[in-house]
This record gives sequence, structure tokens and C-alpha cells, in this order.
Amino acid sequence: MLQKRKPKYRSLRTRHISLALLLGFIMIAGASIGYRTTLIDSQKADELLHQITHQSEHLEHIEELIHASYRSMDLFLLEPLQTEHRQAVTKYIDQGIASINEMRPVDGTGLDDLDEPLARLERQIKQFGIEAEQLFEIRIDPLRQYPTMGIISRTLMPIRNNIVFILSEAISEAKPVITEPADEKPGITKSADEKPVITESAYDIYTDFVELRHYFDRMSLVFRLFMVNRNGGFNSESITQQATIIEEIYAQILVRLTHLKEHDQSGMIGFDGSTAIEVLEATLPVWLEDYRSIKEINDSGDWRLDTLIMQKKILPLTDEITRTIKTIGKAIKLENSQIAQSYNQIRETQTLLLAALIVIIVIYIITMLLSLEKMVFRPIAAVARALKAEAFGEKQELLLHTRTRETQDLIDAFYEMNLQVRNRQMALEYQALHDALTGLPNRTLIQERMDYQLMAAKREEQPMALFILDLNRFKEVNDTLGHHIGDQLLIDVGQRFKRCMREVDTIARLGGDEFAILLPNTARKQSQTVAEKLIETIKEPFTIEENQLYIGVSIGIACYPMDGEDHNTLMQHADVAMYNAKLNHLGYAHYNVAEDDHSVGRLSLIQDLRHAIRHNELELYFQPKVDIYENIPVGAEALLRWKHPELGFIAPDQLVDIAEGVGLIDELTSWVMNRAIAQCAIYHKEGLQLGISINLSVKNLLNDQLSSEIRELLERHQIDSRFVTFEITESSMMDNPENSIKVLNELSEIGVGISVDDFGTGFSSLAYLKQLPVSELKIDKSFVMEMAQNDSDAVIVHSTIELGHNLGLYVVAEGVENQQTCDIIKHYGCDMVQGYFISRPLPANEFMAWLRTHTDRSPSGS
Ligand code: C2E
Ligand code: CA
Ligand code: CA
Repeated sequence: MLQKRKPKYRSLRTRHISLALLLGFIMIAGASIGYRTTLIDSQKADELLHQITHQSEHLEHIEELIHASYRSMDLFLLEPLQTEHRQAVTKYIDQGIASINEMRPVDGTGLDDLDEPLARLERQIKQFGIEAEQLFEIRIDPLRQYPTMGIISRTLMPIRNNIVFILSEAISEAKPVITEPADEKPGITKSADEKPVITESAYDIYTDFVELRHYFDRMSLVFRLFMVNRNGGFNSESITQQATIIEEIYAQILVRLTHLKEHDQSGMIGFDGSTAIEVLEATLPVWLEDYRSIKEINDSGDWRLDTLIMQKKILPLTDEITRTIKTIGKAIKLENSQIAQSYNQIRETQTLLLAALIVIIVIYIITMLLSLEKMVFRPIAAVARALKAEAFGEKQELLLHTRTRETQDLIDAFYEMNLQVRNRQMALEYQALHDALTGLPNRTLIQERMDYQLMAAKREEQPMALFILDLNRFKEVNDTLGHHIGDQLLIDVGQRFKRCMREVDTIARLGGDEFAILLPNTARKQSQTVAEKLIETIKEPFTIEENQLYIGVSIGIACYPMDGEDHNTLMQHADVAMYNAKLNHLGYAHYNVAEDDHSVGRLSLIQDLRHAIRHNELELYFQPKVDIYENIPVGAEALLRWKHPELGFIAPDQLVDIAEGVGLIDELTSWVMNRAIAQCAIYHKEGLQLGISINLSVKNLLNDQLSSEIRELLERHQIDSRFVTFEITESSMMDNPENSIKVLNELSEIGVGISVDDFGTGFSSLAYLKQLPVSELKIDKSFVMEMAQNDSDAVIVHSTIELGHNLGLYVVAEGVENQQTCDIIKHYGCDMVQGYFISRPLPANEFMAWLRTHTDRSPSGS
């Protein structure tokens, strides 16, 4: 069955695993590529950023250095003697150059645009250094610092000195001499009285020279004031004033000079005077010219070279440097933004990558969900629907559009399960409706069939019969030969019954050794024939494992419609009938309403029985056991009687049956034992040394208290144990052999007799019997009653008597109903007889009377 099927469909799991692997691979590859690129990019960007930061720092440093140099330069200008300012500037410039070199990209990474501006910056800073040096040099040299001073010292000073000198020479020459005529001096004419006379012209010349000197001194003074004003930077207003004064004075000087020149031409002036005039003529214009150029310089503001350099060179250079620095800063900023851009790019790449991964995952999930929906959920739902439909008994084909190996497996499993479930269901149905052992229909099935047949019978107005059959002595077979024999017997019985039946009839086993047969379209009369046939067929011995088994059957018959119209009633009534048949050894019996009272009131019967035991409403009858040779009653069997207030006498075995069933048996037996032994004591008191036989039920053997109770009773009634015998049926003893041995040993210890009742009906083995402490055998009355007519019964009775004697037991024959039987029994050597022929069971006092009349009489009456 389990042949390997070629997989027609691809496995869903394989599909999903391969898809997941593929996607996983793509994702890992994408992620690692993305990671690598972004890693490289970000490393590059990091490097650049680092460099840029580095450069920005350097640039800032340079800027600071330039400012610092500028500041130091200023300080130097103020205090030229403090050389540390000068040194500081040089140091700053050197540091600036070093920083520029630091800024130069080491390996050609990025910032190529910086090469040129950096070079420019270097140049400019170097230039700045050079200019600064120059400035310092100028600052420490005042002549170089102030260009006008040069002119002054070069020309104006010598000219002035010369003029002062020649003017004093000229003045001393032109000074009129009054005392010494010899000392003729131009301008001083000697008068006639030989007294020198100062001529007017000579005086003029002298005053001219003096005035000239005065003016020149004044001009020099004003010039000095002018210069001081200028250099000291005091009052620019007075500077212009002074310049005007200088020009005016100069004009005055020229006026004097022209005067003097006229005098000179007239030869009135001496040598020194002439020389002075010549020198004045030559140098004054030079002086004026130089003065004017100084004034010009002063007016132009270039009067101080260091500030000039500061303004014209250093400041512009500083501006240029600032611009270059700005340019470089911009370039760096640009680069920075480029880096930011590249960072953005990296981020974008990462985002893109992430988005791609998410998209892949989403696609995967959607695909998976869709495929799950299509390939798993729908098929599962379909299978679930089919299962549900199946559960409600509807057939449903499984139609799936997409199949995978898994769903196909599921579908296969579904069909397989379906098949199995159906098979099992059928098996269960069969099991539910059939008896496992015999394979015959069981109670349920026969009831169903009965219902069906009843419908048909009602419709067609036909009769119907129901048999309940109970095997006789089956229990013994089971108990003695084992259940396997019993089981086989039941099977064989079933088969044998079946052979007597028509096709339309149904035979069922109801349980145990009880069978039922349903006979449609069968009237009461016909049913009788069938029953007889069944009894006949069962009489033939069954051979099972070399055992020849004889069993009988009791059949109860209920007929539709008179005995009932539904299966319950019919069953119940057939049961009652069977019970009657069994009880009365009738073979078969039809249901009889009159006989059914017992069964109907069974429940109240139990209550009544309980009541009767407790209120002493039961009675004990006594039937004598007579020594067949001595012809004297040696004992009596106590037999239970109960006259029910409504139902009349109830058979004792039925009572025992009920008591066993409802747990009243011990109470009942206690009552019987007490009554029997008490009666025995009464007989003894009357001088009748009589034994008493008490029947025990199989259930009594299970009572632990039994032996102690018996002891107590014997004690109480002062009866010797040898006067008491307990009768236990052969089958009871076999029911639970171990327990029987135990109990019987206990009883025999007490000293009471033990009798095997109804011997011959069971199947006890002799070996077993030998082990038991029994003292008596009672041949079952069914053999005895008919032995006069039935040779085989006679044979059985005879051999049983011999067997009992061989085992050293007393043998009692019960059921002796007539003289003939009594004679045969006596002839066979039986020890005791009991039966209607001697006496029926009698109430205690009647029995006492009987005893009195029979103590010395022969039981045969002869
Ligand atoms: P059993 O122990 O075999 O008792 C003998 C039965 O045979 C008695 O029936 C008796 O009346 C009947 N009998 C005696 N002689 C003859 C005869 O010549 N012909 C016929 N046809 N019958 C005869 P009974 O009294 O109806 O008792 C039936 C069974 O009920 C007893 O069979 C016994 O098994 C049981 N039983 C009676 N009393 C008690 C009791 O007190 N305790 C227990 N456990 N069982 C009892
Ligand atoms: Ca008995
Ligand atoms: Ca008996």
C-alpha cells in the first residue's frame, strides 16, 4: 500500500527556502557592497574633512599671526627701542610661512585650487616681512624716518649756518667806525675836520645787513616753529600761518638784499658785504626752494616715511593678505560644502540601499503572503470545508487550483483519513451492532431489526415471534473447562441455532449464554415448532477439544401482537417466559401474563424480602433425609419458604437469586442458619437426635465472618457441630475454587459436615473434589427423578454412588418420588434418600409430628 509516490508537485518548502536564500543572498550582497562603498566614501570624506579642519585652523592661525605682526609693528613704531616687537614680527611671519607650508595638501587629495592662493599668500607674507624690515630700519633712523630732516640737514642747515656766518662778517664789516678814521670803512666817510663821519649810505647798508640778518633769523625761527608744529603734529592752522610768514619774511629779506645789491653796485659795500650778497643771492633761492619742497612734502602728508610705508605698503599688503586669506577660506568652505555634499551622497546611497532592502523585504513578504494564501491557506480552508462536510456526512470533492507537495500530501492524508475513518466507522458500526465473540448481531441490532420488522408487521398485519434463549448448565462448562471452551461452545451454539432458521430470521447474542431470535411472519403455533426444533438440535452433544458437552436450552417466546407491540415489551415478556421455562424445566414457554406477576413486581419484591427477613416473616420447611438401610430419619434439609402477602409462595431459588443480586444474601443466610440450628436444638430437646442440612449460596462463601458466625450459633444453641451439614452446589464450589477450599477448610475445622449439592450437573473434576474436605454427595434430583424410566440417568446415579463411596463420602439421592426409584437406589447401595416419596418439605411443627410417627417406621412404608 505504501508505495512511494513520485512527487507530482513542487514542494512549497523548497520553493520558499530557495526564494528566501536568493533574497538573503541579494540582501547580503547589496548590503556588503553598499557598506564597502559608503565605508570608502566616508573614509575619504573623513580624511578630507580632517584636512579641511586642519587647514581652516592654520588659516585662522595665519590671520591671527598677521594681526599680531601688525600689532607688534604698531607697538614698534611707538617704541622703536623695544626690539622684542621687531623680533615678534619676524617670528610671526616665519610662523605664517610655516603654516602655509602646513596647509599645502600632502598627497594630491582635493583642494587643488588652494595651490595658487597659498603661493600668493606666501609671497605676500614674505613681502610683508620685507616691508616690515624696511619699516623698522627707517623707524630707527630719524633722518630716514622724516625725509624733510634730510633736506634740512643737507641744505637748509648749511645754508643757514653759512648765511649766519657771512651776515655776521658782513655786519661787522659794515658797522660804522667812529673813533678810528684809519679804519676806513665803506659807508663811513671821514669829515673834514678829520673826524670820521658816518655817511647815510653806510648806515643804510649796515641796517640792511642787520635787518636782513634779523629777518633771516626770524625766518629760520618761524621755519623751526613750522617744522616743530609739523613733526609734533600740533596745530595745522598755525602751520599755514607760519608758511605765509616765512614767505613774507623771505620777501623782506629779498627787499634788503636788493637794497644791498644797489649799494654794492655803487661800490659802497666792502668785501665781506659783497661776498655775503653774492652768497645770499646764490643760496637764498636754494633755501627757499628746499623749504618749499619741505613744505610740499609736509603738505602732501609724506612727511614721515614710516607712516608712509605703513600706509602705502604695509596696509595695502595687509589688505591683500586678508583678501587672499578670504579667498583661501572660501576655497576651503567650498571644499567643505563639497564634503558635506559627499556626506549627503553617502547618506543618500545608504538611504537608497535601505529603501531597496525594504522594498525587497516587502516584496518578499507580499509574495510569501500571496503564495501562502494561494498555496496554503486556501487549500487548508478547502480541506477544512471538506472535513466539516465529511463530519456532517456530505461528500465533497477537493478541488484545488494550485497544488504543492505539502497541500497534495494534506489532500492525500485527507482522503486516506477519510477512508480509514469510514473503515473504522464501519468496523465500529459492525462492532456496535455485533457480538465480538460469535459475530452474531447484538442486542442493539436485533432491537433495530425488531423495530423495522414491527413496522412491517403492523403494516401488513402479520404476526411475529421473539425468542429469548438461555443455555442450561453453560456456566458450569465455563467454570470447569475454561472460558476458551465456553467461548467456542457459544460460537457453535450460535451456528447450530442459525442452521434451524430461515434467511429472514435474525439471531443475536444478548450476552453471556443468552441469545435472541427474531422470527418475522411467525405465529404462536409455528413458533412452538421452531422452539422444539431448537431444543432438539441443542440436545446433540458438542465436541470441543475432545470434550463431549451436553447442554440444554430454555426458550421464552413472546408473540406480536398479543404479547407486546414494541421491542421493549416483547423482549421483557420473552425474558419472563424464558425464566418460567427455565424454572419449570419446560424447555420452552410462551409468555403468560398470569406468571409474570413476579417479574413485574420485582422491585417491590426486594423491599418486601428485606422487610420479611427483618420481621421474621420467612419460614423454614424441613424435608427429611432417611438412612435407607436403617430406615430412620437421620437428618432434615432446611428449605426456605416465603408466603408473600400478595404473590403467595415464592420459589426459594428465586428468593436466593434476588437476595444475591441485591446484597441481602448474608442476612438471609444468617436468618436461615439461626432458625435451622434453633430448630435442631428444639428437636434435640425433644429427644430427636437429628442432623440438620443448611443450603449455602455461592455468595456466602465470600463472607469472611461465615465460620465465626457458625461457631457463635452452635455455641448459642448448644449444638454439636457434627449435627450440622452445609450443602453447597457443585457449581458454587467451582465458581471460585481457591476461596472455596479456604472456606470449606474453615468449616470442616469447626467440625460441620459438607455436602456437594446437585452433584452431576456441574463439571467438577474428581481430582479437585478429592482436595476438598467434603463428607457427602447429593446426586442431583434431575438424574434421580427419571432414573426409573431413563437408563442413562440410572447409569449416572449408579456410577455417582460408586464414585462417592470410592471417595469415602456418604451419598444422598434427592428427588426420590416413588417406591421404584427408592428400590433401585437402595439396590445401588446409596446411603440416604430424600424426596417427596419420603416426605415433602414440611413446616417445623408438622415435621416434628412427622418425625414422631416415622422414627421407628420404614420409609418405604413397608
Ligand atoms: P435443593 O437444595 O436442591 O433443594 C431440594 C429441592 O428439591 C427443594 O426444592 C425440594 O422441595 C425439592 N424436592 C425434594 N424432593 C423432591 C422430589 O421428590 N421431587 C421434586 N420434584 N422435588 C423435590 P425447593 O424447596 O423449591 O428449593 C429449591 C432450591 O432452592 C433448593 O434446591 C436450594 O438450592 C434453594 N434453597 C431452598 N432453601 C434455601 C436456603 O435456605 N438457602 C439457600 N441458599 N438455598 C435454598
Ligand atoms: Ca439442597
Ligand atoms: Ca439439590
